[in-house]
Order: sequence, then C-alpha cells, then structure tokens
Amino acid sequence: MQVIENAQDLKKFRKSLDSDVGFVPTMGALHEGHKSLIKRSIEQNPYTIVSVYVNPTQFLEGEDLDQYPKDVEADIKICEDLGVDALFLPQNLYTKDEISLVAPKVKGYVLEGHFRPGHFNGVLSVVMKLLNIVNPQKAYFGKKDAQQYILIRQMAKDLFLDTKIIGLPTLRDEDGLAKSSRNIYLNPLQRKKALSLYKSLQFIQNNINSLSFEQLTKEIYSIIELDELQYIAFTDYKLQKIKQYKKDDTLVTMAGFLGTTRLIDNLWL
Ligand code: AMP
Repeated sequence: MQVIENAQDLKKFRKSLDSDVGFVPTMGALHEGHKSLIKRSIEQNPYTIVSVYVNPTQFLEGEDLDQYPKDVEADIKICEDLGVDALFLPQNLYTKDEISLVAPKVKGYVLEGHFRPGHFNGVLSVVMKLLNIVNPQKAYFGKKDAQQYILIRQMAKDLFLDTKIIGLPTLRDEDGLAKSSRNIYLNPLQRKKALSLYKSLQFIQNNINSLSFEQLTKEIYSIIELDELQYIAFTDYKLQKIKQYKKDDTLVTMAGFLGTTRLIDNLWL
C-alpha cells in the first residue's frame, strides 16, 4: 500500500492506475463503520483509495477539532490489512486565499446545520477537493451521517460530477450503539445512556404505523437519557419536513449531548 501525503503525488498515482477507483474519505481513528465502507469499495472496484484528513473547516469554534481522536499508525495498519491500494494522508488541503469553496443552500442549515452552522460548507468543500484529487468512479459514505450523505449526493448531481455517490448502512456495536470515533470519549455511565438513542429509534420503528409523529416525539422524551436532546426530526429523504410517515421516504434524525460528547443517529424508514 502506498501512503501519500501530497495532493499532486496522489493525482500522479491515480493517473498511473489502469482501471476504476473506489474512494472512502474519512477523518481517521478508523473503526468497523469505516471498515465496512472500505471493504465494500474493495469488493466493487479494482482499486481503492482511502483518505484520512481531519478537516478543520467543518469544525465550529469551540468544537472538538483539537481533541479529535487520532491514531495514524493504527489507521495505516487497518488499511494495509484490508488491501487498500493507497492511503492519502494530506497535511493540509487549504490555502489562505481560496475563492471557490462550496456553500450549501438552506438544506445545509437545517437539522445538523442548524446546530452547526457552517459545518456543511466545510464538509462539501473538502469532499469536493478530495473528489477532484482522487477522481474516483465511486465514493462511499455512511448513512449514519444522513444529512452529509444526502447533501454530498445532491452536490455531485448539481455539479455534474462523474463520481457515483454510494451510501451504506450504519454499523453498530452489538447492543445497537452506532459506531463512532467519538464513542471513545464516553465514560461507562455515558456509554450506557448513549444506547437510549438507539432505543428511541427502535421505538419509532416499532410504532411508526400506529402513532403520530407528535406522539412518537413525546415518547422519545421519556426514553432518551442524553443530557441534552438537540433535535428529533421527521423528514423525507430530501430533508423536507413531513407530517406523516411515507414508506421508503421517511428519515428520522436525532442529535444530542452526553457531557461534551455530541452524538447523532438516524433511521431510514
Ligand atoms: P468520519 O471519519 O466520521 O468522517 O466518517 C467517515 C465516513 O465513515 C463517513 O462517510 C461516515 O458516514 C462513515 N461512518 C462513520 N461511522 C459509521 C458507521 N457507524 N457505520 C457506517 N459508516 C460510518
């Protein structure tokens, strides 16, 4: 496996490949969720490139950029063991005087974007940069970050990108907690309470046909054990608010805090 730190070198490597490339962008501290994306890419493409880059522009002031978990050695080993062809580990992808970053419209400012205004400017900009550098046929994203996946898929359409954007299901611990690099911040009690996110979504899944969104939301407030529930929202797959369940077009998203750790989860119904 090649470990490449420079964008121009990565482009050269990409040009040397004689067939299709699958790409998995990450912020590192790789876990089973990331691995599931990488494995799928390796199954579906002759070559797979993974990036590990903690993108500063998607963190808001006061968020955990400086504490974001890092384990480059472990990430390299995981990628090597899985059979990744190149790991892209850029130091920095920005210059001081950029004029062409990607700015989402209103759907970048609802749900996650409401509580993290500007977050998706950072996400879309860095994904655009990475796609331009790697030029993959397919790029893989987790549906755990539902809004991110939806916005990236739409951006690819809007900007006529050739890359096919693929979303894969959320990988969970055995008890149901969604795998996340941030889970390591949780102490044992918080880890237990975190499970209430999954329990809430299970409750919704089991009762979506018999209870209204208002009734479901009310129940969730008695199930949830987060210190702060920022939102629970019912939208369609285009992030439009809906009033009633529509099969195969209902997305339930939730986010909140346990201590200083922010957790998200969702359900695609
Ligand atoms: P991150 O390193 O958190 O930026 O995540 C990199 C990619 O992995 C994103 O597309 C995430 O949606 C995806 N991902 C993160 N956690 C999971 C999970 N538990 N299951 C599946 N994909 C995930």
